[in-house]
Amino acid sequence: MKTFEELELIAPLRRALADEKYEIPTPIQAQTIPSALEGNDVLGCAQTGTGKTAAFALPILNRLGQLNRKALPNSPLVLVLAPTRELAIQIGESFATYGKHLRLRQVLVYGGVKQGNQVRAMGRGAHILVATPGRLLDLMNQGHISLSQLEVFVLDEADRMLDMGFMPDLKRIISKLPAKRQSLFFSATMPPKITELAARLLTDPIHVNVTPKTSSVKRIDQSVHFVERHNKQTLLKTMVTADGVERVIVFTKTKRGANVVAEKLHRSGISSAAIHGNKSQNARQKALESFRNNEIQVLVATDVAARGIDIDGVTHVINYDLPIEPEAYVHRIGRTGRAGAEGIAVSFCSSEEIGDLRAIEKLIGQKVPVSGGTEPAPSASVRPSGQSRGRRPSGQQGGRSSGHGRSPSSTPGSRHAASRRASEATGSGDSPKPRRRRRRPSQVS
Ligand code: AMP
Repeated sequence: MKTFEELELIAPLRRALADEKYEIPTPIQAQTIPSALEGNDVLGCAQTGTGKTAAFALPILNRLGQLNRKALPNSPLVLVLAPTRELAIQIGESFATYGKHLRLRQVLVYGGVKQGNQVRAMGRGAHILVATPGRLLDLMNQGHISLSQLEVFVLDEADRMLDMGFMPDLKRIISKLPAKRQSLFFSATMPPKITELAARLLTDPIHVNVTPKTSSVKRIDQSVHFVERHNKQTLLKTMVTADGVERVIVFTKTKRGANVVAEKLHRSGISSAAIHGNKSQNARQKALESFRNNEIQVLVATDVAARGIDIDGVTHVINYDLPIEPEAYVHRIGRTGRAGAEGIAVSFCSSEEIGDLRAIEKLIGQKVPVSGGTEPAPSASVRPSGQSRGRRPSGQQGGRSSGHGRSPSSTPGSRHAASRRASEATGSGDSPKPRRRRRRPSQVS
């Protein structure tokens, strides 16, 4: 494995990396940085958590740092497009961290806030512009931003852009890019429309694939705790107060669920906040900041709100509700165990959610070890009226039967101690069937 020293980055970048205590490039960095430094286009298949931001930010900063030019008003040299404000802000923070010993100007442009500050900042000049597509187009149409001087274009999380309906905006922006440029393109998945877009955008790209799904899934200590819906909150409280459970992201299926869970934790004296699409941009940022700064222990999020959030040191992800789409499980648990660090993911599964659990296991090609509760008898998982929740049959293959039933080095020792203890506390092996196991419907906070 190469070290950062061997990547021959300029001294101010090496200093910043040493400040951050980065020593070894992650696989995507090792594969992307040398080619990008030579000016090649890159097609990277990778999701957040793999170190991809530095994979594109370092070669860009290296280039700008070497040339030492003045920032031009309204005409950035580098454009990074991201699907969400949260991701744009995070990318901006990464550029600021890695570029802190360079004198470069960057501007962030995203919707949901007034445009005045962004327009003025562009007028003062920007080497690097990090933007979401809608607001960028608005400012381009108003004449506040021109892409005529652009040298490097980065498209991050292209598949998410597609999911969020940004394709028309994206095409309009791409039509304004100068023909001579370097393009770096990242996507967690490569559906046909994304491959088509990449082919249009890139010239002789190098292909980098860090197969994030299996690698991130393997690094994370996963378990499932069988618990009925009405006991989930008590179990959650017991879990987050256990030793070693420091920084937790809890996932709920609905926005309302996120509010209720956060509110109840808060009332039990556990510092928490909810983030979801109904919250204002400011409220979401504030909650993320407090979580980052360790002012709150638990962040309760819905899938959409949590997309792309990158916070170091998340010790636990707890799936309060299992996601309906199995792919979301992989994204969720990827919030812990980032960039090589280990993480723990515990999923609460009620008898109604057994089908969701099986779909997840099929997707990840392994059985999730049980850390608490009792798996409901098959009959308990059948919905009374036979109605399904309308989950699309997973179009993914991935159900490698050989992996099925094999639990990965399950060490139910200390890892799952919190879960076991919680199980004892709540008697939460509580599928409705073996009722006798429930000692006492413990106090709801
Ligand atoms: P990303 O995939 O860009 O969201 O990065 C995920 C996390 O990994 C971020 O918190 C980075 O600070 C961290 N990170 C990125 N590269 C490295 C590295 N080479 N060594 C240690 N941590 C890293």
